[in-house]
Amino acid sequence: MEGTSHTIVAIDKEDLKPGDHIYAYRVWGLYSHHGIYVGDGQVIHFSNTQQALDEIANENPDSLIVEELDENPKSEPCEICGYIVGGSPGMGVVKSCIEHFATTYQLYQYNVSLIKFWFMPNGTCCPYQSKPLEEAVQTAYAKLRTGFGNYNLLTNNCEHFATFCRTGRKFSGQVIPTRLPAGVKPEEVPIEDLEKIAAGEDI
Ligand SMILES: [Zn+2]
Repeated sequence: MEGTSHTIVAIDKEDLKPGDHIYAYRVWGLYSHHGIYVGDGQVIHFSNTQQALDEIANENPDSLIVEELDENPKSEPCEICGYIVGGSPGMGVVKSCIEHFATTYQLYQYNVSLIKFWFMPNGTCCPYQSKPLEEAVQTAYAKLRTGFGNYNLLTNNCEHFATFCRTGRKFSGQVIPTRLPAGVKPEEVPIEDLEKIAAGEDI
């Protein structure tokens, strides 16, 4: 995402702190994947659960995601983290080497003003205050054990997971434009409704 904004820069692995929320663009800059760096080169992140994939497959038998799952060659499990490249979808909350997460990633920002939030690209920042980083690590590990429910792109996605670890509240800036009622601008919506929209709740 070069040139998008001077405030968005890739961060080096050496500069990451446990608890940092990172994201990486997956599809032509449109969709970003999010995770919590937990130290030792490992990231805990949330992806499609098998139940969500089954629902997509049942509803759209010809969809891209079903094709991708069938065609992606699966690697041997990584000797460090056990992650299977190409076999990762359907697993929910996973811990993997950062190299399987992405090769280039950015630092997600917290406690940004609403003015800055509307100026920044969706899915790069959150207006909520972050908890201490070590609490984010603890929450990420807790969810690695218990899961984070069924994945849903609009109501329970990887950005919801990472912001929940950092703030205790689900927030996804990426879903706001899609979840707004037709013809309604974000600035016309009361802030408490916007928070519900970003959290994946109904208003
Ligand atoms: Zn690995």
